[in-house]
Amino acid sequence: MHARAIAILGATGSIGTTTLEVVRAHPSRLRIAGLAAHSRWRELVGPAKEFGVGVIALADPAAAAEARASGAFPAGTRILAGTAGLTEVACLPEVSMVVSAVVGTAGLAPTLAALQAKKDVALASKELLVLAGKFVTEAARVSGARLLPVDSEHNAIHQLLRDKPKADIARLVLTASGGAFRDTPLADLRHVTLAQALKHPNWNMGPKVTIDSATMANKGLEVIEARWLFDVPADRIDVVVHPQSIIHSLVTLTDGSLQAQLSTPSMAYPIQDCLLFPDRLPCPAPRLDLTQALTLGMTPPDPARYPCLGLARAAATTGGTAPAIFNAANEVAVAEFTAGKLLFIGIAELVGRALAAVPAREPGSLDEVLGADAEARAVTSRLALGLAR
Ligand code: MG
Repeated sequence: MHARAIAILGATGSIGTTTLEVVRAHPSRLRIAGLAAHSRWRELVGPAKEFGVGVIALADPAAAAEARASGAFPAGTRILAGTAGLTEVACLPEVSMVVSAVVGTAGLAPTLAALQAKKDVALASKELLVLAGKFVTEAARVSGARLLPVDSEHNAIHQLLRDKPKADIARLVLTASGGAFRDTPLADLRHVTLAQALKHPNWNMGPKVTIDSATMANKGLEVIEARWLFDVPADRIDVVVHPQSIIHSLVTLTDGSLQAQLSTPSMAYPIQDCLLFPDRLPCPAPRLDLTQALTLGMTPPDPARYPCLGLARAAATTGGTAPAIFNAANEVAVAEFTAGKLLFIGIAELVGRALAAVPAREPGSLDEVLGADAEARAVTSRLALGLAR
């Protein structure tokens, strides 16, 4: 059997480095054919040597020039630059799967090109489906490439839906940790600080997604993501607060039975599921130890505590560019909060005002989606002045 050749877009981030760990654990099944990052080229030198990678891309052309001049990479390594470079890495003839884990929209064009070239895509960037779900799923459908979800909740559902006819599925249930303020009295949310918001109970993630977890904007984005990945309308996607992050998601079957996927909270599980799909081999992450007591809690999310979840659902129902507007407004609001210019409870307030102010429409092209994204950012920044603390 040939080892499956992987290209990683976003190789220096936490998804990228965990992908390398999984590849390292299965050398006869997986190999790395290309690595791409934004600018941190020094962090690619080690993996390039270890995995014998001949092609590297850096989105930042200045970083690519530096990497070439450094002489740090083995002789003969091709070092590409810009979006075109990322696209070339994703579409290398030998590559059969692309791990798409670039933050923001920079991964959009390379990922679409990979799907069009019939490369299977393990998708870790939420933005791609939230902004361009219509175009991304259409590209996969036309070429026949597989779109595999890396996000732990969606990967759980992907595992649960395997081998089940669509008629058996009644609802999807995404689990949510509830974030840093799950148990904070509602009246105290007004006074919570950035440092408190950055303490996630279970997952070790970047600051943006940790704050999104506290507001549940993250879960709202995941509802939109699930809508595209599984072709299930948002009103058939439930959210439940599950503080332990052991149950990664559930499906409700037509007869009323529920099925769940459980593992320790390590991204190695969903990443490996994508990379080895449809095979299962031992995962290089801790296993659930059922010789120890295990308590699993589940409660419905309180809409007063998590108003961003309701706003995301409304955007999902509106459709068109509304999810892109939600995402852009939330990014601006989180940046304002992080900069100390907005209260924590101001995030949802600002996102709600932005959604009301920017009209959504059905996008005919990716450019129209990116236009809505830019418009929403500008409007939200303006509206933020009125909410400044
Ligand atoms: Mg998730």
